[in-house]
Amino acid sequence: MALLEVLKWPDPRLKEIAKPIREITPEIRKLAEDMAETMYAAEGIGLAAVQVGAPVRMIVIDPAREGEAPRLQTCLNPEITGGEGEAVYSEGCLSVPEVREEVKRFARIKVRYMDLEGKTREEDINMQEHGVLPIVFQHEIDHLNGIVFVEYLSRLKREFIKRKMRSVQAFNPNRPSEKVA
Ligand code: ZN
Repeated sequence: MALLEVLKWPDPRLKEIAKPIREITPEIRKLAEDMAETMYAAEGIGLAAVQVGAPVRMIVIDPAREGEAPRLQTCLNPEITGGEGEAVYSEGCLSVPEVREEVKRFARIKVRYMDLEGKTREEDINMQEHGVLPIVFQHEIDHLNGIVFVEYLSRLKREFIKRKMRSVQAFNPNRPSEKVA
């Protein structure tokens, strides 16, 4: 396994639309392992392949809190097939260190994806039962479509964050922040 470099916004590669995974090759399995290791090392709760410079439709998620057993999910070609309700949650992102901002999303979603065994799975998840999980799925799937959560903020706020990012990176390129996706 290996730690991967997480691209930092506004790296243009974060805008790439990721390609569907047609076949679960040894390379895909290795990427999945490395992504999980990278996510845990950075104390993140989700990571999309796009964020490590691999523009394929794969995400890893683990919403377990400290002290809880790990609940790693590796999702290939994930898609939101339904959404309802509204939730405003203060999100963070491993590609935008030290920043948390509120984003409005669905509170309940249906999601479909393929697991690493090639089996199609469908889940109906909501914030009441599953905590932050629906938010993490929406955030990570956005990455596969070239969207970083700061795109939802006002232009003014985004420019402010861009400036902040430059100074954060200048001082400490790899410092992990709070649990983020
Ligand atoms: Zn993110």
